[in-house]
Amino acid sequence: MNTSHPRRKFIQQSAKAGIALSIGSVLSPKTKANEIQPIPFAQTPLSYAFNALEPNIDAMTMEIHYTKHAATYTKNLNDAAAIEFKGENISLEEAMKKISQYSPKLRNNGGGHFNHELFWKCMQPGTSTLHEGGLKQAIISSFNSFENFKSKMSDAALTRFGSGWAWLVVAADKKLAIGSTANQDNPLMDVSPIKGIPLLGLDVWEHAYYLKYQNRRAEYVNNWFNLVNWKFVEERMIKLG
Ligand code: MN
Repeated sequence: MNTSHPRRKFIQQSAKAGIALSIGSVLSPKTKANEIQPIPFAQTPLSYAFNALEPNIDAMTMEIHYTKHAATYTKNLNDAAAIEFKGENISLEEAMKKISQYSPKLRNNGGGHFNHELFWKCMQPGTSTLHEGGLKQAIISSFNSFENFKSKMSDAALTRFGSGWAWLVVAADKKLAIGSTANQDNPLMDVSPIKGIPLLGLDVWEHAYYLKYQNRRAEYVNNWFNLVNWKFVEERMIKLG
């Protein structure tokens, strides 16, 4: 039998998948499935269309970013977590607090998954307005003015050399702070130069802006502020207490 024939191989693989599926379906999800993979991480569907953030972020960039880059982080996180979490029902946030104990694969893809899930929610189509309220007060109290906050956040985004993220976080002292991280690290991680719970994250990897802005990161960052979903950021801050 010629097993290298693509069609035959496909049929064989489908048959194997069929067997695996029928065994899997009779297992209790609370026992065997959890021992194999504690948390199958998944991308949350976007609450807006790929073209909804235009002209600030173009549809093609959004589509590739969400369906290719971010999807790959999620897949690779699941692969790494299946091995490294060893069936322990640990949340991604808890794992990040001791990320130095895990592999670079879990660090890069765990950060990649978490950061992008937050990033999509931090943006919205339409007018972006920070209304009077707790978040605005906290921003003014921490940075003197909204304009000063924006300037500091932009600086963090523009001075991050290479790929990374700029962050607004709630620090341990409950004050807001701004900083940046390299690659897919984030402020929850024990390896991060800025520590805290991220409220707002700005992706400054070239894949986030290159098709439209090429080398003009400053223009991307400036336009990105038109998209910030301040309502989401404020609700996130309130939830943290
Ligand atoms: Mn990205």
